[in-house]
Amino acid sequence: MQRHTHEQQSAIGACVGCGKFIRAGYGTKVKGKNYCKVCVDGLFTKKEKEVEEMGESLTLPPLD
Ligand SMILES: [Zn+2]
Repeated sequence: MQRHTHEQQSAIGACVGCGKFIRAGYGTKVKGKNYCKVCVDGLFTKKEKEVEEMGESLTLPPLD
């Protein structure tokens, strides 16, 4: 796993969501914490899903 070590050296930090190292340009800082792109997408998707589920439970038509 020498290649993995190299990636760690060029990492800007560890993702607080999944713990993986983030390389420069592949992460986002949210409120001072590092998130990889996958976890950032997951955060927003999760919020959207929660809103959708709330809407479904109230049987409201989806907002366009
Ligand atoms: Zn992550």
